[in-house]
Formats: sequence, C-alpha cells, structure tokens
Amino acid sequence: MKYVELGKTGMNVSVISFGGIPIQRNDMENTKLVVDVLEAKGVNYIDTAKAYSVSEAYLGNALKGRRDKFFLASKSMARDYEGMKKDIDDTLEKMQTEYVDLYQCHNVPVGDFEKIFAENGAYKALLEAKEAGKIRHIGFTCHHVEDMQHVIENYADKFETVMYPFNIVEDQGTEQLRKFKELGYGTIAMKPFAGGNLDDPDLALRYIAEADVIDIALAGMADPKEAEQDAGVAEHLVPLNEEELAKCDAIRKELGTQFCRRCGYCMPCTMGILIPNAFLFRNYVLRYNMLEWASQRYKSVCTVPASQCVECGVCETRCPYHLPIREMMKDTARIFGY
Ligand code: SF4
Ligand code: SF4
Repeated sequence: MKYVELGKTGMNVSVISFGGIPIQRNDMENTKLVVDVLEAKGVNYIDTAKAYSVSEAYLGNALKGRRDKFFLASKSMARDYEGMKKDIDDTLEKMQTEYVDLYQCHNVPVGDFEKIFAENGAYKALLEAKEAGKIRHIGFTCHHVEDMQHVIENYADKFETVMYPFNIVEDQGTEQLRKFKELGYGTIAMKPFAGGNLDDPDLALRYIAEADVIDIALAGMADPKEAEQDAGVAEHLVPLNEEELAKCDAIRKELGTQFCRRCGYCMPCTMGILIPNAFLFRNYVLRYNMLEWASQRYKSVCTVPASQCVECGVCETRCPYHLPIREMMKDTARIFGY
C-alpha cells in the first residue's frame, strides 16, 4: 500500500481508502470480514457518515480491539449547533471510540455555509468537540464546483479537508481541488467509480492515484471480495498506458455528464418510485443493451414504475447533480414500456 499525508492533518493515510456507504447492504459479521481485509491490505482510513444508516454501528463493532490501526472519519448533515453536537456524540457511541480523526460537514451546498457558521451553527459544536478531544480535524464534503469555490473565497481557514466527486468522467472540480492543495487541505475523492457507472476498478483507481489534485480515493467496498480487489489495486499503481488512456476517453464519450450516481439524495419520490434503481436498470439497457435482464429486475424491484411519475419535480431540487430526473423518468418508462 502507498501512503500520503492528508494535507496538513498529519495523518499518513492509504491512497486507496475505504468509503462506508455500501456497508448498509452488509451485516455485522460480513463487515468484520471486510475490515479484516482492510487491515491485511494496509488500508488505514475508514470514512462513514451518520446518513449511511447502520454503517457507523457495524464498523464500530468490526473495529473492536483494533481501533488504533485506523484513522476514522465520519460526517453529519446537521447545520445547527445542537444537531451537530448530538451527531458527534452519537458517532462516538456507534463507532465505540473516544474520538474520530476527521469529522466533516456532509454535502454542503453554497447556501448552507451561512447556517453552519451562524452564531448557533454546527461549526461551534465542531470546535467544541475538537477542544474536548472528541474529534481531531474538521472537513467538509460537497458536490458542486461553486460549493468549493465558496469555501475558497469565504471559509478557507475553517476546514482542513475537502471531499468531492472525482473520477474518469468527473474532473470538473480540478481547478478548485488544486487550489485546496495549495492551501494545505487534504483532498479526498468520493465516487471513484462514478456511482457504479465505471466497472473497471483497476482503471478507475489508478486514474485517480495519478491525479495530482487528489490525495486519496474512497472506494466503497461492500464485501471482502470487493475489498480484496480494490485494495489490491494499490499493489501495482503504475501509470496508465496509451491504451488505458484511450479507454478512459471512450468511457467519457459514452457516459457524458447526465448519469445517475445512485447517491439517493433525490429520495423519497412523491409517488414512491425507487429513482436510483429505475435509473440503474435504464443504464443497463443504455450501456450494455441488457434489455431482457434489466426488464425482469425493473419489474421485481421497481414496484412503482417510472410511468407513475407525476412530474412534481421535488426530486430534481434535491439531486446534487441537477439531473433532469423527470425527463429521465419518461425515458425509463419508454424503455421498459411502463
Ligand atoms: S418528479 Fe417524478 S420521480 Fe421526481 S419526485 Fe416527482 S413523481 Fe417522483
Ligand atoms: S437522480 Fe440524482 S440524487 Fe437521485 S440518485 Fe441519481 S444522482 Fe443521486
């Protein structure tokens, strides 16, 4: 495993690290097996969030007796003092630890920074927790270039790390990430596989490892096999060759920018449509021409079909990627016939 300093935090962390979203699809026992693989492969940074339901608790259980082998990061969507205070204490309890190494303001759009830095905002609770030794560093995560730019211009001295989507098809934040590097921030790439749209982990992770604006990539590892595979990439971090660079170009052309990352922020749908699932199956048809298989899955999983969309638009106000969900729903209904 290769390790880098995460900005000025003093943390020496693995370039391929662990993202805790998929642990929600796991159970306690299997999570332990995943953490066994992380330990064996030298992955020493684990990121999770309050928003990832059971993830903190499962990881906390899996880390019993080996907490000191890992740097732990979590995050909260709370914007006010009381909410953040409560969330930090809850994280410590769930993760069965006396401190977390990095606590982040989770998914912050431009308009929310004012709330975080208000007199009774979340930042006050973060500072208090840091003072009390409950957290060691403070960071933020976001999904838009303008969110990062806002921090650069207004709050650059308030955080120590930034987490942002970065992968073969999403390098739109390069300029801001470079600025953050200059400012001494630790830069963390989320969505290295573009929300499941990139199916070659070796190519995807090596692409990020080469990017000079990124310190570490967080790969979501749902089970021990995936953990072996993703962490294993670090054993041969060689530069991409001509053929592999051409493959990256072909993927960019094929996916464009209008694709669902399956983050789930758009949910719940007014009509009960499972939006990320519907788009996942649509994607199988568009990318791999797997109409028969995708139709069966669509029928069994999406019990409220895309045709039920009433075009209320609520989901679009929540999608951090500004996807035209209503149009994509119509297209999904057209593909599957209902
Ligand atoms: S626009 Fe359609 S998919 Fe989006 S919340 Fe409304 S009904 Fe659901
Ligand atoms: S539609 Fe947008 S918010 Fe919903 S899962 Fe896809 S990317 Fe995320």
